[in-house]
Parts: sequence; C-alpha cells; structure tokens
Amino acid sequence: MSAPRLYVVATPIGNLADLSPRAQQILAEVDLIAAEDTRHTGRLMQHFNIKANLISVHDHNERQRAQMIIDRLQQGQQIALVSDAGTPLISDPGFVLVRAVREAGFEVSPVPGCCAFVAALSASGMPSDRFSFEGFLPAKSGARQQALSALADAAQTLIFYESTHRIVDSLKDMQATLGSDRFVLVARELTKTFETIKGAPINELLEWIQADSNQQRGEFVVIVQGAPERADTGISAEAERILDLLAAELPPKKAAALTAEISGVNKKALYQLLLDKKG
Ligand code: SAM
Repeated sequence: MSAPRLYVVATPIGNLADLSPRAQQILAEVDLIAAEDTRHTGRLMQHFNIKANLISVHDHNERQRAQMIIDRLQQGQQIALVSDAGTPLISDPGFVLVRAVREAGFEVSPVPGCCAFVAALSASGMPSDRFSFEGFLPAKSGARQQALSALADAAQTLIFYESTHRIVDSLKDMQATLGSDRFVLVARELTKTFETIKGAPINELLEWIQADSNQQRGEFVVIVQGAPERADTGISAEAERILDLLAAELPPKKAAALTAEISGVNKKALYQLLLDKKG
C-alpha cells in the first residue's frame, strides 16, 4: 500500500470466516479504521489478532469525521471504513464520508464481501434480473402501508431489511397492501447457526412465522416477488385494493363510483372488474 486512500471494507454478517484474506490484510495495514461502533469492530479485530487504531464514524458525527479523515489523507495516511456488519453504506453510515473523500480528490477503493440482501437474493430462487433494494420500511404501520402501496404495482423483485421487533407486523402490512397470494421469502440469520430461508404465499408465510416464536427472532431480509403481469385494464393494484375493500361494505355500483373518485380510474372498468370477480 502506498498512496493515500480510503478503503470501504465489508465485514461478516454473522460467520466470522467470511472476512476475506484481503480485507484482513488491509485492516491490519491501514493507519486508521473508521468504524460505526468501535467496541464492536474492536472485538472483530481481536478475533483476527489485528492491532487497530479505531475511531467512530456514525450517523451523528459523520460530517466532522469526514473533515478529520480528509486531513489524515492529506498527511498521506491509509484509512479503512467499516460498519458493524456487511457492506458500509448499505443501510449503514458512510455515504457522507465517501462522497466528501471523493470530492476532496482522494481515491476510494471497495474491498467487497458480505452484504445481507445480496446473500439472501443469491439463495432465494426469486427473479434477480431486476430488483429494487428498499432498505428498512417505516416503523409505523400507516407509513409502512403507504410505502408498500406505492410499490404494489412494481414488476421487479422487492427487497427489504427487517428487525425482530417488526417482522410480523411488516408481513401483515404486506398482506394488506400486496394481497395474500403474493410470494414472499424471509431469509433469517444468514450465515449463522439458525439460518432459515423460507418462501411461500404471504398468508401461508404469516401463519408459519406466527406459529413459531423462534422464527421471529434475529435479523431478516424479506424478498417480495414483483407484481404479476396484469391484463391491460388500466386498473392499478392499488385501485383494485381500494375497490375490494369498498365492495366488501357497499353495493358494487357505489364501490366502483367511490373507487373511481379516489383513484381516477374509469368507473365502468371498475364495475366490470367487480362483475368479472363475481363470476
Ligand atoms: N450493511 C449491512 C449489509 O451489507 O447487509 C446491513 C446493515 S443493516 C443496519 C442491518 C440489517 O441487515 C438487519 O436488520 C437485517 O435486516 C439485515 N441483516 C444483517 N445481517 C443479516 C443476517 N445475517 N441475516 C439476515 N439479515 C441480515
């Protein structure tokens, strides 16, 4: 290593053997490691017998730290950025720092490795030619349903991160907004002892996960199949969801009229859809 540079180093998401030899070498050789949590990274460095000079870089101090790291690069130092698990910047801090370092004219090099959503997708058997990584959904159910409704018609595979506290509530909101039949897969505790990967239509998946509290523990990647091809009726999945909700309470004509007002979709087309559904 010679020229000053910031290395963005991926670390394990559970199984420590996933830290690559190159990552170990770079972490051992840099002058400074900028870590999301210095105690957490300290333990990782101890495991690999690496004597590291650590400073914290997290959401609350990233701007100040960026200036300090640029000063160090100007002095000719080599620096590594790591997060608690997986690839920095992926639902983790680092974006502000990496952008600032590049803008200051220094090289930034990735040292690739684990990333939970890539690992989950690679083993999911779900379409991977087009996908959209959505990170964490909002914590509150109303905002979460809104975010999911906005994605209901997306044809590509959708990928989310989820925590133990919210996995069941999020799956329930997916059922409410995307329909019970949508195929969903949960990848839990990847690379760890209790790794579980299970895919099913969402109503079955919810039943399975609610029946076993162990399946609600740990860290999750949730992968949702893209919306099915629809006959070109001009009716979005969201409009159809509203129509179904209203039709459960109101006569078909009234339900179609109200849905038309809310969604802007043609009233006749909505009414026809209700008739088709009835049979
Ligand atoms: N930067 C990380 C990456 O590259 O995947 C993600 C960090 S984000 C703060 C943490 C979330 O990633 C967890 O809540 C979970 O959704 C997902 N995650 C991390 N490790 C995981 C694992 N071993 N199995 C399943 N999901 C995991």
